[in-house]
Amino acid sequence: MALTKQQLVDWLMRCGEVFRRERDFLTELDTAIGDADHGLNMNRGFDQVAAKLPSVAEQDIGAILKSSGMTLLSSVGGASGPLFGTFFIRAAQVTAGKQSLDLAELQQMVQAGAEGVAARGKAQPGDKTMCDVWQPVADSLKQSLAQASDVRAGLRQAAERARQAAESTIAMQARKGRASYLGERSIGHQDPGATSVMLMIQALSAAAG
Ligand code: ADP
Ligand code: MG
Ligand code: MG
Repeated sequence: MALTKQQLVDWLMRCGEVFRRERDFLTELDTAIGDADHGLNMNRGFDQVAAKLPSVAEQDIGAILKSSGMTLLSSVGGASGPLFGTFFIRAAQVTAGKQSLDLAELQQMVQAGAEGVAARGKAQPGDKTMCDVWQPVADSLKQSLAQASDVRAGLRQAAERARQAAESTIAMQARKGRASYLGERSIGHQDPGATSVMLMIQALSAAAG
């Protein structure tokens, strides 16, 4: 069973709710190793994405993702706006014209987005960034594909992998972004952006049913 366009729109709506609910938690994470605005940034960005959805929901998946990416680019400042914006714009390029996504197409979407974020942020694995969750999620979907899982099972697996991957950033020393200014003192705290990716993948799994 493929992920329908309606489920994808539902995902983006759920992201709006999740970042409203988790705003203070994410900002708390960013207080420890950043400038205490990550929750506010994500909440503002996905509120705007949700507000735009009704006007684009009739278009294809690529167009919806592109619109969401442009909205994040223009409404979220800091490091995370351009990076999440890049994720969606790259994801849009490989889903142009589609009305649904099977597991292979979903894997391509996440892989393209993850590569776009890594290229834009110049982050390597282990640098304690959102990339430390995006790529494991893409890898998990690839494994599920090899095991001939369906989208729903693949996303459940990916959400669990995302949880572990976000947790694994606690032990890392930040080498990119504001947290890198702290050097070794960045160790022992979960990365805010990585946590946001985890929340997005959990929301995607929930939207898939
Ligand atoms: P800012 O740091 O500008 O205040 P946010 O607080 O919204 O922006 O986002 C911080 C998050 O952005 C970090 O937790 C990290 O996951 C991510 N990030 C920062 N720099 C990079 C980078 N170069 N590559 C990938 N992700 C990054
Ligand atoms: Mg910040
Ligand atoms: Mg900031």
